Amino acid sequence: MSISQLARSIADSPTLRLNEQARLLREKGEPVIHLGAGEPKSKVPMEAIRSAAAQVMTGEVRYTPTDGIPELKKAILRYMEENYGKVVGPQNVIVSGGAKQALSVLLTVLVNPQDEVIITAPYWVSYPEMVKLVYGVPVIVHSEDGRFQPRVQDIKAAVSSYTKAIIVNSPNNPSGAVYSEDFMAELVEFCEQKGIYLITDDIYHKLIFDGKSFVPAYRFTKKDFEDSKLIVINGVSKLYAMTGFRIGWTVAPKKIVEVMVNVQAQTTSCPSTVSQVASVGALNGIQSGVESLRYMLQNNRDIMVQELKTIDGVHIDKPGGTFYCLPDFRAFGKSSVELCEFLLKKVLVVTVPGKEFGMEGYLRLSYCGTVKEITEGVARIKWAIDPTAPNEIFIGDRKLVRDWL
Ligand code: PMP
Repeated sequence: MSISQLARSIADSPTLRLNEQARLLREKGEPVIHLGAGEPKSKVPMEAIRSAAAQVMTGEVRYTPTDGIPELKKAILRYMEENYGKVVGPQNVIVSGGAKQALSVLLTVLVNPQDEVIITAPYWVSYPEMVKLVYGVPVIVHSEDGRFQPRVQDIKAAVSSYTKAIIVNSPNNPSGAVYSEDFMAELVEFCEQKGIYLITDDIYHKLIFDGKSFVPAYRFTKKDFEDSKLIVINGVSKLYAMTGFRIGWTVAPKKIVEVMVNVQAQTTSCPSTVSQVASVGALNGIQSGVESLRYMLQNNRDIMVQELKTIDGVHIDKPGGTFYCLPDFRAFGKSSVELCEFLLKKVLVVTVPGKEFGMEGYLRLSYCGTVKEITEGVARIKWAIDPTAPNEIFIGDRKLVRDWL
């Protein structure tokens, strides 16, 4: 069997692998706590379900235009106006099969072999692999001070004549950090000066806590939309609990969208028809579900941070948004993969190793589950690694005694 060099260079998805391990353990009846999840458990909005069901009931589910049905594009234009303060036209929007496909089609259109794409760490696991899939070179930028807020000076130092684009994701998966307005303003100015595309992955943009709200990068541009280097990626997955529908979109200057349509037409024809109709329902329907989700997550964030702070040696930066946090476990002398495997084996808690996000020694923990999962999950972690914790614990109906600290 001969596998291409490119395919062999692509890493597997650690989160999907962990999900599978957890599923197998659960199937055996083990009381696994999943703090690795990437999707809220709330229900799909009723309008989305009704619209999708009505479409299926017509018995006619056919191809749509490659860039999306006009009703969905119209809903996205309104969304842009309401949430980004930006009026754009249908020629500036292409709908894809999730934000993931939107990004991958976009990168196919922008990146030549050997072009560099700058990614700020911590980053979403898929960015570097997606860049590699189009023969580009991912360039990871860590802040010199090791914090979750990137600095423009570190980005500037990583720019070369090959730099084609920069991807930023705020609120950020995996840290939950919300990038500062000063950073975004300076970055927009720098990208426009240098002619570098600035891709903002805004998939968590309404999940911001503490009364703060999202500031779109457009606010800082001095260019006309068609001449601007700003490209927005967004979708329905996270805000509307519609991960399984696979709908995301790109908003970009017309000349980019046109070529994206060609690429998408030749690879997938169009996004799923039923899912597009469902997304129209979600975007045009009552929006209170998003606010309830945000409120629930903020409460969960507070509990997660409070519980983690009781573990001696763990450092946690309070997340400003999303449903993730990225506590620092470096004090425990294990690599993040070792620690993650140790926690799954000893206390049946699923976490994701920080190494996958460019942050060795850290673990990504999700707080999109229940309060009980958060408190019990963190209590189990504490029992496994903190010598000051009582050395007995109940996991399910099993009493465990710690014999390794
Ligand atoms: N961007 C980020 C930062 C994400 O965390 C995710 C999902 N984990 C995606 C994009 C992909 O979203 P979608 O389900 O729309 O493909």
